[in-house]
This record gives sequence, C-alpha cells and structure tokens, in this order.
Amino acid sequence: MTRVTVVGQGPAALFAASLIREAGHECIIVSESEGSLPLWSGTFDFHAPVGDVSNPWSLLDNQPISLSGQEWKSLWESLARFEREAGIPVPDLLPSRGLFTITCTGREKPVFMVPAWQYAQEAAQPVWFVGFDGLADSMAAFQCGAYQKHTGVEANYCEIPKPSKWTPTWGAVRWAAYVDSDGGLDWLKRALQKVSPDIPPGWPVLVPQVIGRKFPERNLRALQMATGHPVFEYPLPPPSLGGMRIRDRWVWNLKQSGVQFLAGRVTLAEPSGQISLEDGREWRSDHIIVASGGILGGGLEISVDGKVHDTLRKEVLGSITVRQDLQMQEWGRLADDGTPRITTCGAQCRGWNPNRDSNGGALILATVFQGLNREGLVAVGPPGAVSERSVSHVE
Ligand SMILES: Cc1cc2nc3c(=O)[nH]c(=O)nc-3n(C[C@H](O)[C@H](O)[C@H](O)COP(=O)(O)OP(=O)(O)OC[C@H]3O[C@@H](n4cnc5c(N)ncnc54)[C@H](O)[C@@H]3O)c2cc1C
Repeated sequence: MTRVTVVGQGPAALFAASLIREAGHECIIVSESEGSLPLWSGTFDFHAPVGDVSNPWSLLDNQPISLSGQEWKSLWESLARFEREAGIPVPDLLPSRGLFTITCTGREKPVFMVPAWQYAQEAAQPVWFVGFDGLADSMAAFQCGAYQKHTGVEANYCEIPKPSKWTPTWGAVRWAAYVDSDGGLDWLKRALQKVSPDIPPGWPVLVPQVIGRKFPERNLRALQMATGHPVFEYPLPPPSLGGMRIRDRWVWNLKQSGVQFLAGRVTLAEPSGQISLEDGREWRSDHIIVASGGILGGGLEISVDGKVHDTLRKEVLGSITVRQDLQMQEWGRLADDGTPRITTCGAQCRGWNPNRDSNGGALILATVFQGLNREGLVAVGPPGAVSERSVSHVE
C-alpha cells in the first residue's frame, strides 16, 4: 500500500486526503493548526469576478489551470460526494447556473456549491432579514436597506431581543452553542413566532449563521415549522460557523475512514519522502503532499509587522508595504515545483489569489487534481488531464 503524508488541514488537504483514501492508499495528515475553513462560510467558490456568471461552465477559460468541462464537473462531483459522505447537506445536482448568497452587509456574493443551511438565489427575490440584538455583525436594518438599494427588490427586517442568558462576551460560536441547546432553540422559536405574522407569505426568512454548530439542520427545520416560512442562514464575518461545521464533519469522516491525524509543525519535507517535525518526530512516506496554505498564496503569510513568512520553513523572506500585491504573485513556490515525491496544492501554489478573485473552491480542486495526478496517485475524470497551462505560467 502506498503511504502518503499530507501537510496541512485546510480544504486542500482534506480534499486531497479524501481522494487518496478513495484510491485505496494510506494517508496521514499532519498539521500545526486548523486550516482556513473556519474563516469562511463553507461555500466553495467557483467563478470569475467580472462578467456573466450565469453559467459557470462558460468561465472555464478564466481559470489559471486549464481543465476540460468534464474534468471540472468530475472534480466538483467528487467534492460533493465527500461532503455528502461526511453528512454535509450539499445538493444532489451541481448548480447549472451561478448562485448568489446575501452577506451580512446586504450585498449579493456569487457562490457555487452551497450547503442547504445557507441562503442562495439565482436572481434577487424579496426576503425578510432577522437581526439578533447582541450579536456583532448582525445589523438587519442596514443589511435590508443595502439589499434593497443594490437589487431594487422588496425586503423587510426585524430585530429580535437578546435572550436572558446573554452576556457581552458572546461571540458567534457561543451563540451557536446556545441555539443547539433545547432552551436556546425554544427561545428562538418563540421569538420568530412573534414576528412571523408580519412576514408576507412565501418570503424566505434569513437569520444569522449561528443556528447551531452540531445540529443546524434540526434547528432550521424547527424554525421552519414554527414560522411556516423557509428559514435559511446568511453568512457572518469570520469565525464562521458554516466552515466550522464542514471542517468538523469532514475531519470526523476522514478519521472514520482510517486517516491518521497528527498535530505538529513540519520543518522539513525531503524529496526522499522524509518528513521531520519541530518536536523531533520523523518518518518516511512514498509521497508528500504539501497543502500548507498561506494567506498570500505561494505558501506565504504576512505577520502584523509586515514580514512575509514561508509557512513551511520558518523563514522570513522579506517585508512588504501596502500595494505590493503584484510582486507577491512572484513569490512562493510554483504549483509544479514538485519533485517526484513532493507536490504542492491549494494556497501553497502561487499565481492564484482566491481571496481576491473569489475562486477558492476552484483553486483547491484544480491544484489538488494537478498535484495528485502528477504523482500518479489518483485519476479523476477522463484521461487527457491537465493542459500545459498551469498556475505557475499565468501572466
Ligand atoms: C477570510 C477568508 C474567507 C474566505 N472565504 C472563502 C469562501 O467562502 N469560499 C472559498 O472558496 N474560498 C474562500 N477563501 C479562500 C480560501 O481560504 C483558500 O482558497 C484556502 O485557504 C486554501 O486552502 P488551503 O487548504 O490551501 O490552505 P489553508 O486552509 O490555509 O490550510 C493550511 C494548513 O497548513 C497548515 N500548516 C501550515 N504550515 C505548516 C507546517 N509547517 N507544518 C504543518 N502544518 C502547517 C496550517 O495549520 C493549516 O492547517 C477565503 C479566505 C479567507 C482568508
């Protein structure tokens, strides 16, 4: 059996591990901390920032890695399958059109694969926003006004008062734990029942994304029964419950399937397959997949003092000032900088800025596919695979 070590625990590492396990290989994940999923609401983005997003498949040529429509479809289907196996409620069919979610500032944000708990629409529709008094970032009046202004569509809102247990220390995670409890769910049901007579029939009710960490599906169902309206969440700024739920369930599912999770900082990944951790542990693998992220892409992150660090080696590569975005694209590791036994994927790869382009899901799928294919570890979709254009060659 081939032994593969994956460095990192972000979405790229989890997706790679799922593919590796599915192909029947042994997989170890080693990570120094949680990945970026808890930063985002958990919708895997796939689109170009401008132009017509009504048909995402028409945008394939805008992706830094060139894959055929069939390969993209196959990768998205693999992701959907892994999410479903982990108990994440993603739709049975991939969307055939671009979707929009509504943010807490009332703006429409293009999204692609959206778990059932989060609101997404093909075109702007009337909605009813609910704000929670005492929950930072939930400002329903502002959100509603902005949504109406930007879309020209009717909307309304209400604000529900804090529960008696609330204290000023409550953040989104604490709110979610409260809603998961019987008392918290009852409080929310009663609060929404009071306002539901004001809500026009058929309007979806949008509540902040704190409707439980463990039981969001149960909780949302209970709220729908209580109000007689479809009830969905809108995403809040990080930390984000949607991403946490996905990470929790996906990690649990991988552990069930035999993936071993180790905590530690990798200080050396050698072409021989040798992995060394800061605490002195070391072992050898047949392949190493480096998915150690980097907020800037290319495996680089920036600290508050402006220093740019390599996420894998503890090196400081330099300092940056604001507006050096373009040069950053030149730094870091290339996507195809792999040796026969080491390959990089996810935000480790330079030349693709998912945070700027809202294309994080595509980055993950395409770079993992490219890396694992090159290692000969998996074959997704029909042969013919990756074109010569790779993220390292983007102008
Ligand atoms: C605020 C925010 C919101 C976003 N929202 C979305 C969204 O809604 N949809 C979307 O598609 N994309 C979104 N993105 C983009 C998305 O985060 C990236 O595409 C994604 O981070 C890439 O994941 P990754 O697995 O490559 O890296 P990461 O998620 O950054 O994971 C890196 C992992 O490597 C580990 N690691 C690093 N160095 C070492 C080491 N030396 N040893 C061991 N482990 C190490 C880290 O601990 C971590 O577990 C968002 C990004 C941000 C910042």
